[in-house]
Amino acid sequence: MKRRTFVTAGLAALTSAALPARRVLAATTADLPAVGLDGKPLTLKGADINQLRASLRGELLGAGQAGYDQARRLWNPAFDRHPALIARCVGAADVKHAVGFAAAHNLLTAVRGGGHSFSGQSGCDGGLVIDLSPMRAVEIDPLARQARVAGGALLGHLDREAQAFGLATPAGVVADTGVGGLTLGGGIGRIGRKFGLSCDNLVGAEVIAADGSWYRVSARENPDLLWGLKGGAGNFGVVTEFVFALHEVGPLYGGTLSFPFDAGARSLLERYADFTAGAPDELYVGLDAGPDEHGQRVIELDVTYCGAAKDAERVTAPLRKLGKVHGDSLAMTPYVELQGSDDMPGMSQHGWYLKGGLVGSMTPGLIDTVVGCVENAKLDIFYLGFQPIGGAIGRVKPHDTAFWNRAANYSMHVAALWKTDADHDSVERNEQWARDSFQKLEPLTRGRYVNIASMEDRNVVSAAYGDNYPRLAALKRQYDPNNLFRLNANVKPA
Ligand SMILES: Cc1cc2nc3c(=O)[nH]c(=O)nc-3n(C[C@H](O)[C@H](O)[C@H](O)COP(=O)(O)OP(=O)(O)OC[C@H]3O[C@@H](n4cnc5c(N)ncnc54)[C@H](O)[C@@H]3O)c2cc1C
Repeated sequence: MKRRTFVTAGLAALTSAALPARRVLAATTADLPAVGLDGKPLTLKGADINQLRASLRGELLGAGQAGYDQARRLWNPAFDRHPALIARCVGAADVKHAVGFAAAHNLLTAVRGGGHSFSGQSGCDGGLVIDLSPMRAVEIDPLARQARVAGGALLGHLDREAQAFGLATPAGVVADTGVGGLTLGGGIGRIGRKFGLSCDNLVGAEVIAADGSWYRVSARENPDLLWGLKGGAGNFGVVTEFVFALHEVGPLYGGTLSFPFDAGARSLLERYADFTAGAPDELYVGLDAGPDEHGQRVIELDVTYCGAAKDAERVTAPLRKLGKVHGDSLAMTPYVELQGSDDMPGMSQHGWYLKGGLVGSMTPGLIDTVVGCVENAKLDIFYLGFQPIGGAIGRVKPHDTAFWNRAANYSMHVAALWKTDADHDSVERNEQWARDSFQKLEPLTRGRYVNIASMEDRNVVSAAYGDNYPRLAALKRQYDPNNLFRLNANVKPA
């Protein structure tokens, strides 16, 4: 027997051996109460669920099944969602079947990449979660300098594979974050001022749209859809594969500088604003104010210089003079280590409530407000911070990608955290601090970034997509006319 025939025959034998077990399961699945796209209750027939289960290579999980509780958990435990079903997709075919099922039943549908949505967008109560977390393959073509990344891969997977070839594409600053949500919303990170947003480096994709159709996307094929994936969030379908351009990136000079908050926060922020406004594209200096592990308020700078190593000390020297340094880990560091330096557990140990907006420049008024918000904070754990953008990100024209806010120079976030066993009143108090702080800061922002925004704010969508909205709405009508993919910074079909 030729090997190929053997393999086929072997698979057939395995499949038929596996079938009876599936059929036993099939016979026992009862009808299931669920929630429709319109938020109204509906019933999924046991027979239909069984058909979906039989069509998948991955698991289909419902409440009470082993693995369901693990699979439904999101990174942010503030969102404790209980979907009716979770399709743990292992490939594009599974995604196609799951999307077909959701569309046929008008079922509320969430798509989960890395599960890191601050606002819990990748889970739902009573609907279907199309879970891409089993799809984490990354393939590097060092000659073409491209990475093919499966829809559920995490940043750390991409960084590690690409770095084996001395390459990288811009990604966020926490390695456990999903490539999917981060890229579709934009993607701000340590080498972005030099090489652009993650979505600016997206050169292709494979997408399953709401009617189950498969699209290959590139500058030549379906370029309109490629445009929409560059910042238009998960509105147009499930991306089963991303293709990124890669750049040569070696070990970089970087690390953390920390300063006490109480010893001159205002003047430190003023100097930070002056210095970062004139910084070269190669320099990224993120800033966070909040308590350290001993409860002392500090300002931490997350520094990366991706220019020539010989210039790194000189370019970053002024940062050490911003205030009284009490922690300094700046050194030449392997890129993967730098990218992993902010790592948080795969599932956060704290509930998070986050709001954010984009900022043009850090004016004295903004700095005063930031200092006031930090001084007024009565909660144990919080962050108020800035990620610098600008540079190459700002040189892309607003109409050239769905990511509209190209004139902004900082992405600002206000985050309140609490231990998962905190009582309702303290959660509410902490959230209120973030709401109150953002209410003061919001007038000083210009636009929103969908990945760092609270979806409860009505103006997020218009402030994120700006004048690109009509084009996005037309695309939405083409690829998702019934708005199946609505758990995101949602664009309504035109
Ligand atoms: C600890 C932490 C650090 C962060 N740091 C940064 C940072 O440095 N820079 C930055 O820009 N952002 C950052 N973010 C924000 C981050 O970009 C968003 O939370 C992003 O949505 C996470 O993507 P995900 O795939 O993990 O999320 P998920 O929760 O899985 O998904 C988020 C949204 O994207 C959609 N989605 C995900 N994958 C796909 C796919 N393959 N196809 C279609 N739709 C999909 C989901 O449906 C959902 O609407 C951070 C978030 C966290 C929690």
